[in-house]
Amino acid sequence: MPAPLNADLHCHSDVSDGTLSPEALATRAHANGVELWALTDHDELGGLARARDAARALGLPWLSGCEISVSFAGETVHIVGLGFDIDDAALAEGLAATRGGRERRAREMAAQLAQAGIPDAYEGALRYVGNPELISRTHFARYLVETGCCPDTASVFRRYLTEGKPGFVAHRWAALADAVRWITGAGGIAVIAHPARYRFTPTEEYALFSEFVAHGGRGVEVVTSSHNDAEQLKYAAMAREFGLLASRGSDFHAPDESRTDLGALPSLPADLTPVWAALEDRVVGA
Ligand code: AMP
Ligand code: MN
Ligand code: MN
Ligand code: MN
Repeated sequence: MPAPLNADLHCHSDVSDGTLSPEALATRAHANGVELWALTDHDELGGLARARDAARALGLPWLSGCEISVSFAGETVHIVGLGFDIDDAALAEGLAATRGGRERRAREMAAQLAQAGIPDAYEGALRYVGNPELISRTHFARYLVETGCCPDTASVFRRYLTEGKPGFVAHRWAALADAVRWITGAGGIAVIAHPARYRFTPTEEYALFSEFVAHGGRGVEVVTSSHNDAEQLKYAAMAREFGLLASRGSDFHAPDESRTDLGALPSLPADLTPVWAALEDRVVGA
């Protein structure tokens, strides 16, 4: 039986809504004892070559990654892709289209926040953006903390930017079938990210897993920072029921925002097949 691997296959750099560069993340992952690492920026591949080169220089085994925003049953679902060809044209095109509506959405968010008494939020959020194509709610949250209206980003998301609160703008992201097809078409494996975060009825959740598998999706995050023990058990059972590979990732964004650091996670349940067992030939620097 091989020892459990300290794999961290979900985190964000300043190419999306993290605060560290791809190089600083590689250094931090390595220092934390991570043994297999993937950077999974939202809807964007721009940090991957830098992440790969930094990991290679450190002797840290690396997989390509991304996290695609999808709309399913009226909710935003995140699909992580792992081990794909980072030069795949159809994946790049699909992600560019998915990023496309972000600026207009951000301006609408700012207009709502202005009505709620917080002016100039678009300009404020932009100061936190590392990649002009990827303005996200996280950048607004950092600006709202700066204005003093909330003490930290978690409380911003409780009072603003989420459904029914000022600054929430409904948005149509990619279709589930397209996201899975872009990832698998580029030679990668599609994984349902942090499944406990979605507010689905049991029927909707079953539909998500069924349709995901029907489209060729193969994995689910069982161990992630947003799962408590009961949720980890639940999604381990779902992995068994749907025959899915299990993934593990911190979803680390920033040293002062993320409660879980890179690699600081429980092991996967021993009977599940880790997603990296199916990606051995895709690992750079193995
Ligand atoms: P967006 O893609 O612009 O809708 O932003 C989504 C991002 O916002 C997520 O990837 C998280 O980084 C962040 N986020 C969403 N909900 C919360 C929350 N409740 N607390 C902290 N961060 C959140
Ligand atoms: Mn994020
Ligand atoms: Mn996510
Ligand atoms: Mn994430």
